[in-house]
Amino acid sequence: MIVLDLEWNRGYDKTPLDEILQIGAVRLDRPGGRIVDTLSLFIRPKVHRRLNRTAKALPEINASLASTLDFPSAYRHFLQWCGEDCEFAAWGADDFDTLEQNARYWDLPPLQPKGIFDLQTAFSLTLGTMQNIALWWAVEYCQIPECFSYHNALHDAMYTALTTAWIPQHLLELSARPRWTLRYLLRPYPPQSSRAVGPCPSLTSALNSRAARKGLCPLCEEEIWIQGWNFHQQGIYYSDLLCPAHGHFICRLTLSSQADGTWRGHQEVPDLTPALLEDYDRARKGKHCLCKGGAKRRRRYRRRRKDHRYERNDTAQAG
Ligand SMILES: [Zn+2]
Repeated sequence: MIVLDLEWNRGYDKTPLDEILQIGAVRLDRPGGRIVDTLSLFIRPKVHRRLNRTAKALPEINASLASTLDFPSAYRHFLQWCGEDCEFAAWGADDFDTLEQNARYWDLPPLQPKGIFDLQTAFSLTLGTMQNIALWWAVEYCQIPECFSYHNALHDAMYTALTTAWIPQHLLELSARPRWTLRYLLRPYPPQSSRAVGPCPSLTSALNSRAARKGLCPLCEEEIWIQGWNFHQQGIYYSDLLCPAHGHFICRLTLSSQADGTWRGHQEVPDLTPALLEDYDRARKGKHCLCKGGAKRRRRYRRRRKDHRYERNDTAQAG
């Protein structure tokens, strides 16, 4: 596994490029394992004429300004150093975006990773949160001796690499998936049975029927009233179920028209497979239909909560 860190300059001109000033990388024999090689390349900036505040404050900015290496040569050197090792990791997702942006700017081949692990996400998951954690905070938490200064790409890559010893394998694997899928992957659940919907006189009435709209949390069976459906393809709809205690689940509704003109189908929380996540991703980007009474019900609910709040204030003032 190669752990990467970059320092860059955003500049003040109109060229939209986060120009890389240093590439730092560490090779691990395995996640949580030994550091077996390191790389640090300082790169002389050529695109932006001025440094932004962050770049100016880099402890080793002079090494970049004095460097004879330009980005294309440094990038080729980096690719060669990576060799066949095609699994990458970094703290957050920005470094790989920036590397790709720079390669594109200089018309160089993109990195072709087998997988990219986001160690910031993996570390957050390890601590049971979805909040972004700063690298220095993680280093302090793990009680890693802070003998290197931060904001040097090699030092930060080194610290990042060391945090892998605290991350369980299954959370590391989760961090290679698109971030939006995590909310669904965090809580596994047993196989669920599906429930019949219909017969209903029309498609609209089927989508709005009680049987279709009554979702159940697969962990506690709490009833969750579905507010709307995302159209996936002919007769298939998806919705997000949010259990207050257990978080998000994917609900699927399958409907078809019968010979007698009515609509029937079933609603379920299907097994969480990669194919399901792909289908759901397409659906959530597609057409959304709000269920009848959904908006009104929500407004009424909100008003009720507001009234409740006023009541509480009144009580507080009275007391
Ligand atoms: Zn629940």
